[in-house]
Amino acid sequence: MEEDKSYMKNVKNPTIKKILEKYKEIALLGKVNALLGWDLNVNLPMQGGAYRSEESAYVTELITNKWLDSEFRTLIEKANCENDLTLEEKAIVRNLNVATKFYYKVPKELIIENEKVTSGAFIDWRTAKEENNFKKFQPHLTKIVEIDKQIAQYLGYKNNPYDALLDLYEPELTAAECSRLFNGVKRELVPFIKKITKSKGYNDNVKFINRQMHYPKADQEKILNYTIEKMGFDFSRGRVDISAHPFTTTLGTNDIRTTTFYSEIDFRDSFTSSIHETGHALYELGINPEFASTPLEGGVSLGMHEGMSRFWENMVGKNPHFLRFMTPVFKSIYDKQLAGIDAEGLIKTFDMVKPSLIRIYADEVTYSLHIILRFEMENDIINGKIAVKDAPEAWADKAKKLLGVEPKTDSEGVLQDVHWAYGNFGYFPSYAMGNLYGAQILSVMQKQVKVDQELAQGNLQPIKNWLDNNLHQYGSLYFPTELIKKITGKPLDYTYFTKYIIKKYSEIYDLTSS
Ligand code: MG
Repeated sequence: MEEDKSYMKNVKNPTIKKILEKYKEIALLGKVNALLGWDLNVNLPMQGGAYRSEESAYVTELITNKWLDSEFRTLIEKANCENDLTLEEKAIVRNLNVATKFYYKVPKELIIENEKVTSGAFIDWRTAKEENNFKKFQPHLTKIVEIDKQIAQYLGYKNNPYDALLDLYEPELTAAECSRLFNGVKRELVPFIKKITKSKGYNDNVKFINRQMHYPKADQEKILNYTIEKMGFDFSRGRVDISAHPFTTTLGTNDIRTTTFYSEIDFRDSFTSSIHETGHALYELGINPEFASTPLEGGVSLGMHEGMSRFWENMVGKNPHFLRFMTPVFKSIYDKQLAGIDAEGLIKTFDMVKPSLIRIYADEVTYSLHIILRFEMENDIINGKIAVKDAPEAWADKAKKLLGVEPKTDSEGVLQDVHWAYGNFGYFPSYAMGNLYGAQILSVMQKQVKVDQELAQGNLQPIKNWLDNNLHQYGSLYFPTELIKKITGKPLDYTYFTKYIIKKYSEIYDLTSS
């Protein structure tokens, strides 16, 4: 049976209709703020920063006031008591409850204190990291943890205060569920990584890419445009620009911006990061346009969004079949730079497994372990099992157990990421959830699309079309837990991910025969 896709026509409830009118103002202002942020990262002249932050702060204040507007609040309360809501109407109310939770439950004074503490923390985190000195950041982190514990109390939780923080980033996710999934990943991947690094012929110093060579920006741009066009990125509905840290932002339903960064000594970074960001963009571009400016707009969660971007980056972009297809394309442009390198050599550099200390440079196999380390640290810190002063040691200990490497300095360990300075406890696990979502979705996609065969031909469109039909279109209509069940028929299970990893890397490292 054909589903009725004209969702917004199904919204008939008068309270919800009024809510949608008011919400539209929030949505429009949100896009204005996103445009200010995009421009800040892409175009802003050096001295424009101060005035820009005043502009952004003012728009943010307008948005906050609209969320706190008493009439809007009353309407949401009323909607929460309505019976007979349609699927779409229920999802609208549910999403508004999620979005307003922080505003309505946490006292304004605590939100202001949190902003003050985190902006001070950010500055000292930066110098602490430069100077390798955790002690400088420690008092800030102590305060941040105290505030986050208070925030958790106001938000409310059943068993674990960390659940309240996780739920801010990935709705319904709990520490118990993270432990269940992540322990499974650990159990499978920690020994598998050892098997790889101890295998015959393992070489963590493969230098197929000669970093003495020059890879001109204009050449990288050619490859990038070729690749993202193949992915189905619609240049009449989006743009690609340059920024120091690649990101994607939605400025309107037909205006999605991604950015990339070119390193002229290595063409791989712009290639993989563009595929990653285009994955985010395709999600946004594929959402039912009727959801625009409603609480159903945008991807459903950080984890699902990262799931899609990492799906494209790792499961498509770094798929050996696709890399074999791309090799002649790379070599037609970098004939001199890649002389003597074949497809198998390129696969070994794109898919090299090397346990290391820094998360952002981690490969597909070790990446989730970096996240699991942070999840365990956060859970223990919020529950008082690790004292803030002992965090560097606890970090080093976990790095050794999970990755087999030990940080020599705080900068390589506990100080490496900015997230804690921003007070974002609960954010990290969504990255690893993304990997699990991606693998489970791939397992179902493979039953309907001959993924490897298509990739060997360089056909990415069937993958994009499948994701449009089965995932992208729904925007925020279903929560991640419901969506994964709707797409795959099963709740989230870590074994899809571990099986995918073990199969892919056993082939790359020739472990199957041993
Ligand atoms: Mg991303």
